[in-house]
Amino acid sequence: MATMTAVKDKKTKKAPVRGMMDNVLEQFNSAADQVGLHPNIRKILAITNNEIIVNFPVKMDNGDVEIFTGYRVQHNNALGPYKGGLRYHPTVDIDAARALAMWMTWKTSLAGLPYGGGKGGIKLDPSKYSQGELERITRRFTFALADNIGPEHDIPAPDVNTSSQTMAWIADTYMSTRPPAERTANQHVVTGKPEGSGGLEGRDRATGYGVYLNIKYWAQRKNEKLKGKKFIVQGFGNVGYWAAHFLEEEGAKLVAVQDAFGSIENQKGITVEDLFNYSKANNGSIVDFPEAKSLQKENFYSTTCDICIPAALGNQITKENAGDIKATLIAEGANGPTNVEGEKILLEKGVTIIPDILCNSGGVVASYFEWLQNRNGELWQLEDVIAKLDKKMKDSFDKVYEYSESEAMDFRTAAYCIAIKRIEKAYIQRGIFP
Ligand code: GLU
Repeated sequence: MATMTAVKDKKTKKAPVRGMMDNVLEQFNSAADQVGLHPNIRKILAITNNEIIVNFPVKMDNGDVEIFTGYRVQHNNALGPYKGGLRYHPTVDIDAARALAMWMTWKTSLAGLPYGGGKGGIKLDPSKYSQGELERITRRFTFALADNIGPEHDIPAPDVNTSSQTMAWIADTYMSTRPPAERTANQHVVTGKPEGSGGLEGRDRATGYGVYLNIKYWAQRKNEKLKGKKFIVQGFGNVGYWAAHFLEEEGAKLVAVQDAFGSIENQKGITVEDLFNYSKANNGSIVDFPEAKSLQKENFYSTTCDICIPAALGNQITKENAGDIKATLIAEGANGPTNVEGEKILLEKGVTIIPDILCNSGGVVASYFEWLQNRNGELWQLEDVIAKLDKKMKDSFDKVYEYSESEAMDFRTAAYCIAIKRIEKAYIQRGIFP
């Protein structure tokens, strides 16, 4: 299939490098074939609505000016305002932003939210900048995006290397640049804010908690216990840490972790809170954690375990390592961690994959609760947030599980079919303007 993102290496005539967009389009096309998606709607959904690229200057601590490139891709808004995170990472580019925006459209549709999908970020390594520089970069990026975001139009949230602090800066900058009478009414321009600034209690853990819930619901369907199950986590950030925290509470055992700095293993078990405190004290790195031995990077995915949770970046499970995976369940905390070729190998081996658009949707569901809280001038209690999140996640899991059983298809294809059918229905009801 010809795609818009394949990059050809002219000198060596190597096979084209597969981008993230190739991956999401292949997933989409295969589900579109399954449901017989209307050809006009296939055309619309295969492309993004808007792509905003901004280059903006920021003064560094030493007085020099640096130019940054930021992206916001708005894939589709048939079901509601664009929704999705902003990431700060050297891998952020237009291909990644397009693919990630598309995944958000499927995710919000599958979760039954009144949102479309968007994604963006800045191409940078945040560890190279001071807190003051990151604040100025974030504020200037928000100013550059200007009216391309808004509480009823496009609502960013945290993603890789962005936090509640980042969201507080965005909200403050956005509100400060509105006309006076509109300022405080625009708090819900972003979600994932700190609790003191309109944030939702429980939003911090919602993605990891949702990953854990999906694993729990899967185990219940299989009549299996989580107690004693061994699991490995790639990425020990917000998603990986919280998923591990809740799995450990159920008696499952964390046996290996990989982060950007290194990999560790202990088949007897790694205490999640000890590792969390260690990494906090070591600039976010798990390397040299005393309770575990270090592991070669390339051996991480072949570690003995029952459950594997990729919770870092995309394209991590590929044809290079899928065959070595020991886990029988992959729970995708990250977006796009398994590429199409890797997935094929896993499915042939009988491995179950709980796909990203279902598995990590707890974050955007909690974002929706935060948005409602702000819009309605309410303050929700943690127990209500958790109860509502449990219900939403269970409904989505059951829908995907039952569809996959009745149509005899894998979970990802089932999740896509449900998601794209909901969008198709909206287009058929409304028609195409003019
Ligand atoms: N960045 C998260 C995701 O990929 C959350 C998005 C949101 O809350 O809008 O789902």
